[in-house]
Amino acid sequence: MNAKLIEESISSDSDVPLGVPGYNVMPGLTKNSMPKYRHPEFSTISQQTRTFIGKYFPNTSDEQWNSWRWQIKNSYTSFSQLNQVIDFKRMIDDESIAVNEKLPLRITPYYASLIDGAGADNPIVKGVVPSIKELQLSPGEASDPLNEGDFAPVPNIVHRYPDRVLFLATGFCSTYCRYCTRSHMVAKDKMHYGKAAWQAGLEYIRSNPAVRDVLISGGDPLTMPEAHLEYLLDNLRSIPHVEIIRIGTKVPVVLPQRITNSFVNMLRRYHPLFMSIHFMHPLELTPEVHEACTKLANAGIPLGSQTVLLKGINDSVPVMTALMQGLLRNRVRPYYIYQCDPIPGSGHFRTPVEKGLEIIKGMRGFTSGYAIPHFVIDAPGGGGKIPLLPEYYAGRDGDNIVLHNYEGKEFYYPDTVK
Ligand code: SF4
Repeated sequence: MNAKLIEESISSDSDVPLGVPGYNVMPGLTKNSMPKYRHPEFSTISQQTRTFIGKYFPNTSDEQWNSWRWQIKNSYTSFSQLNQVIDFKRMIDDESIAVNEKLPLRITPYYASLIDGAGADNPIVKGVVPSIKELQLSPGEASDPLNEGDFAPVPNIVHRYPDRVLFLATGFCSTYCRYCTRSHMVAKDKMHYGKAAWQAGLEYIRSNPAVRDVLISGGDPLTMPEAHLEYLLDNLRSIPHVEIIRIGTKVPVVLPQRITNSFVNMLRRYHPLFMSIHFMHPLELTPEVHEACTKLANAGIPLGSQTVLLKGINDSVPVMTALMQGLLRNRVRPYYIYQCDPIPGSGHFRTPVEKGLEIIKGMRGFTSGYAIPHFVIDAPGGGGKIPLLPEYYAGRDGDNIVLHNYEGKEFYYPDTVK
């Protein structure tokens, strides 16, 4: 399904089947058989965003702005569109202006409001605005660096670990991150899958009793029409051995208006349900994001964060500490910091691995333990997540083990029990 169809399928009330005509149609489920959309059920508009609306969308009502459908329909998908509201020439080099139309681009108006008037050094600009640097390939880069294709027993399922699977439910995102691990399947601005495309995956999970944990990801599953997501949740919840369901998403950050009251009321029917939210920088922690996270947490959904370590964006102890502490204030438990995966053209985002260790060391002991995520490398080739820890264990001295605390001071622990 191309982007226009996706926008129309979620924004119009026409009596069309949901999904991609011809192969993912949900029989009997049409726009007109669903409850009519009446109210966005989302209320926050921060001052910064209100200023942006006044400048670029003066005829847009609060209700329209707070509609996630409106946000997707009015997203910036080309350089020329974004250039109308943001001074690109101040942001990026001339060369990238020449190529950017070839690079996929999608930014919601809400997320764009966070970079109004920003320059090239703004972390959110770096994260979502195309750059000429993406065309520079470095050694070791690959379009599917985690070899997910080799761990796919059926389409849309990745089964890498014994007791859990990844369900790639859609190829569409509301905003494209320039460093996306799955850029080989997203950022093409074309795919919502659907019922027919999911059947093999559902059957695979039904027939594998070892699968007790399903992570729904993509693309971003929260960009799907509510009925699509509920269909998937309902089918997964009906499988007795599926104990927990997780959703991986960036929507609460780039499209918080999606987190409506009715949406979280639907989600709460499928507990135990967990959510991993992709955050990048403390600038993302707006009043809108606070409303979205509060609603999800109030619905009993444990929230965890995932953050990719990115050069020039969040690769410092103060920035990462501010992000992790801010996440806790928003009731999100810091979960993972990922070393940036070597996708093609990602060299300008990647940091030395030591940087991640330095950041963990700079946080542990200096702030709440709850604020400390795991630093992991998703091993190229499909080895799975491998945690990396700073060295606090300094060896043995007779009956004692030697430990270094967060300040670098040395301590002995009597390790005499055999
Ligand atoms: S939201 Fe996730 S899947 Fe979508 S572009 Fe960003 S990193 Fe990729």
